[in-house]
Amino acid sequence: MRDDRAERSRRENRGGSAEKRGPQGRKEDTARSAGESQRAAELRGKARGGKEIRRGGKREAAGRGVVPKRETRENPKPRFAPLLPVSELRVSVEQEEQLRAALSVQEVCLIYLDEAGFSDTALSEGIRQIQRQGKRAGLRLRRIERASEDSCSVKAQLRRLLSPESMARPDAVLIRCMEEVMQLLSLREAEESAAFPELCFDYTVYGYNAAALSVLRELGAERVTLPIELNRRELMELRGGLSREQLASELLVYGHLPMMVSANCVRKTSRGCDRGNGTERLRDRMGKEMPVRMYCKYCYNQIFNAEPYGISDLPAEVLPLRPDSVRYDFSVESGEECRRILGGMLPTSLTRGHFHHGVE
Ligand SMILES: [Zn+2]
Repeated sequence: MRDDRAERSRRENRGGSAEKRGPQGRKEDTARSAGESQRAAELRGKARGGKEIRRGGKREAAGRGVVPKRETRENPKPRFAPLLPVSELRVSVEQEEQLRAALSVQEVCLIYLDEAGFSDTALSEGIRQIQRQGKRAGLRLRRIERASEDSCSVKAQLRRLLSPESMARPDAVLIRCMEEVMQLLSLREAEESAAFPELCFDYTVYGYNAAALSVLRELGAERVTLPIELNRRELMELRGGLSREQLASELLVYGHLPMMVSANCVRKTSRGCDRGNGTERLRDRMGKEMPVRMYCKYCYNQIFNAEPYGISDLPAEVLPLRPDSVRYDFSVESGEECRRILGGMLPTSLTRGHFHHGVE
């Protein structure tokens, strides 16, 4: 295993994070200006005064959330409402129009490109485009790895992007399954470690308790996405483990959550796979339509919940978790929908997932 102290020192020196850590590992918030603190206080105040709202058929208690601004003809221009001003804002995109929307929002610091959603050429061009605009570029890895040795493997993809000739080096990599970790680590051994992208783990990699976080840290994790299966109280308890391991945390605040990932392509079994990046719809017996995303560059699918998950309008509940970054995951949204959502206008029908479960 690598020298832990050298590794931590490298991570502390890495730019782009909203927080830096002190000599005792204590977090020192260097990015939060007095103005931002005031905005946060105002938002908390608003949250306390919020009215009762109805979302997805469920009634929510008064004061829990900020009532989203309605889109009007007088105000059609997307406007960013800094709902969570203490955190770095990150976005993941799977389509070109989503990328354009994320690039148009000044407050977005880092954009992850889904490697299955873009051709290799588009990935390289996208990374350059993001970096040219002064943002950081991340690479979100695939959910399913079919063959680890061939030219399409995660390792081959990263070797191409990280080669000395590459003009499109990602600043961060979002890891989504365990075999990707091993492929990355073997690559990193041969690299100058200071130049290697930040290793972020997605919620799809198990990290539900302090022991699991310790293992992820040993495997090189620098940032972990907080588990979507835990409720808010359990996430608060996880903060101790994150702090002990000096792990930065990323909180998903918007996105369609996957119900199922399948290596059997729906298109292949119906009319034949076109190797494209499309969306189909499945209807359940209650008549709800669930989006199915085709990641046919690698020919796998994800079936998503009919309603997207969203907690970005709950600053009073999200801010105490003190996430180092918050993330919006875009999958089936149009560019215009992405702009509206990043502007603080969430869809009227959404789910809170497990965030509220078990909380009195
Ligand atoms: Zn396919």
